[in-house]
Amino acid sequence: MAHFLGVDIGGTNTRLMLMNDQQVFQNYQKVPTHSWAGLTDPLGGLEQLLAAYLQGTSAPVSGVMLGLPGILSRDRHTVLSLPFIPALDNQPVAQQLSVRLGLPVCMDKDVNHLMWWDLTRLDVLPDVAVGVYLGTGFGNSLWLNHDFYHGAHGGAGEIGHIPLKDNPLLCPCGKTGCVETLTSGNWLSGWAKLHVPGTTISDLFVKHADHPDLQEFMERLARTIASEMNILDPQYLVLGGGVLAMAGFPLGQLERLIRAHLRSPYPASGLTIAISGVSDETGCRGACLAAQRRFRQDSSSQSISQPARHLAFRREA
Ligand SMILES: [Zn+2]
Repeated sequence: MAHFLGVDIGGTNTRLMLMNDQQVFQNYQKVPTHSWAGLTDPLGGLEQLLAAYLQGTSAPVSGVMLGLPGILSRDRHTVLSLPFIPALDNQPVAQQLSVRLGLPVCMDKDVNHLMWWDLTRLDVLPDVAVGVYLGTGFGNSLWLNHDFYHGAHGGAGEIGHIPLKDNPLLCPCGKTGCVETLTSGNWLSGWAKLHVPGTTISDLFVKHADHPDLQEFMERLARTIASEMNILDPQYLVLGGGVLAMAGFPLGQLERLIRAHLRSPYPASGLTIAISGVSDETGCRGACLAAQRRFRQDSSSQSISQPARHLAFRREA
């Protein structure tokens, strides 16, 4: 039976998981990203990590899918901008790993794997859907006309880099004024340290959701998301990420604020807002499912069977 290896590369941890053709998952592993990315040859380090994982399994692996938090070329062969491992910039990472491992290797933005996981939980795949995953940064996945949209060069969906007026803050992307500098988990941690140093970050919304600064944060978030809804008119908006999973995060308020900015009659009356079922393992689970979708597309023109679906989204703590 065919197996697929999904790899989710985050700034802090790299997660790996194997899935068989029947979508049964096994052998979840998590290692600190710096254990390979901090080496003088990060690509060699990643190759060794994957090779060791593959040696530890007797299952025949048909393909590997990497998820990366950066900008990839439109064909997803080359990393263009990966701020936390700049040594990989402009490297044909998937192709090089494929040659070294002797296996097909593909890659995509990590948020597309979260989104693919969430989309495959739906009863029917929508034509148009948008995912917003607010964690350390402002992740955005665009599912347009039954496929992920990457833009003309691979730079689509960079919603966190919409410029805000009168915002002088420097963004990790190199620009100033990006919405992400004021609307992300990073901003929340910095704000909490400065204004409520006695509160642990996990209790921020439990204790201070009514603070005017956090209310303004909610408005910024809602306006940014609503802008994209008014451009794309999706059937589904999937909201997720570590910030939205925080205790006391006012999800109902966020939905009300987003809807207050939607154009009528559409997208206002056609939009379903769903909460992501994403958990710690979802990035690599979604990568496994994406590998199955990708490598089956490559090897067969037969229709792709979709994973077992559930009618409703779950919110996992
Ligand atoms: Zn930026």
